[in-house]
Amino acid sequence: MLYKQQGELFSYDLLKCLRTDYFHNDCQSCLDICPENAFYFDRKRLTVDFDKCTNCSVCLGVCPTEALELDFFDPNDYVLKNEPLLSCKKDIPCLSAFSSEHFIAMALRQGQIDVDLSHCEDCHLNPEGKTLASIQKRIEEARTFLAETGSEATIGEASFSDDRRGFFKAIFKTAKEVTKEESISDAKSDIDRLPMRQTLLKNSLKLASKDLPNKEVSTSYSFLANKQIDAMSCTNCGDCVQFCPTDALFFSSDGAAIWFVAGRCIDCAICNDICKPRSISDKERIDLVSFAFDRGEELVHHTIEICSECKTPFPYKGGEMICERCKQFVDEFGDIFKLASDME
Ligand code: SF4
Ligand code: SF4
Ligand code: SF4
Repeated sequence: MLYKQQGELFSYDLLKCLRTDYFHNDCQSCLDICPENAFYFDRKRLTVDFDKCTNCSVCLGVCPTEALELDFFDPNDYVLKNEPLLSCKKDIPCLSAFSSEHFIAMALRQGQIDVDLSHCEDCHLNPEGKTLASIQKRIEEARTFLAETGSEATIGEASFSDDRRGFFKAIFKTAKEVTKEESISDAKSDIDRLPMRQTLLKNSLKLASKDLPNKEVSTSYSFLANKQIDAMSCTNCGDCVQFCPTDALFFSSDGAAIWFVAGRCIDCAICNDICKPRSISDKERIDLVSFAFDRGEELVHHTIEICSECKTPFPYKGGEMICERCKQFVDEFGDIFKLASDME
């Protein structure tokens, strides 16, 4: 299988995309925002039409896993440049390359940043106002988060008109070259899917933590989640652990407990969706110190016993020493066995 779709300057890494590992994930943020309609589904597989892609960067900031990359602009590197004014007339292709986490990280590191949205309304990358609305939503989310933490960092607005896009215009040429796809299947195990923007956000919070009056915040933000597991209904099946794209959920070494690291969770909700008994759910609040320092929390700890019927280990909840599968089997087919023995 080919795992990377590579254009001249833009690439889509299927290994990082949420749709690849968990078939039922319905993320299509990139497809929804692309002003050139360059994404499409080919037999349910997300695909890039590199004849349409203009390397504009608009989709970069909306992908939760950084599966989309440009060769000539990395929003994570840009955060470290400590630029106080973000403008597409300076050295950024489009402000939509940044996520809420990027805006927060830049504001926390610098105390104040300004965004230049004065050119967005008439921009060709803003069909039906979609791109501007999305950028504004991310900036507003960043502002709300900063306000809730009590941070004094601010995100203001400013206008910049000295057009230095010549440098970028040379690069923005429409990619008409033949699309290349390269196989990186051997590298699959080496991939850490935790987006770099999350690490930048955590590091920025660590730097600012002593100045933040409120260290516990709501999990209503698109990039924050906190989890809990109901011990009585959890069957310890491990589906949530197996399908978590960032290893935010993992088993203890003896397999009896499930742990969670909020600092590795990207709030994709795959675990909630895949859990058949609906045992895993979201908590409403999160401690930012635990988030920033990757502190783990044990969500559930089962007592493991051996099933008296099938002799396999199972999470014991009291009563008979029989696992859920055998119990269900007896419930469903018990009558048939009784009928057979009555006939003998
Ligand atoms: S936004 Fe990212 S994770 Fe979502 S479908 Fe596009 S590439 Fe995949
Ligand atoms: S929380 Fe749900 S998916 Fe995870 S181990 Fe328990 S039952 Fe399975
Ligand atoms: S813990 Fe759940 S919501 Fe968080 S990254 Fe893993 S699967 Fe997604």
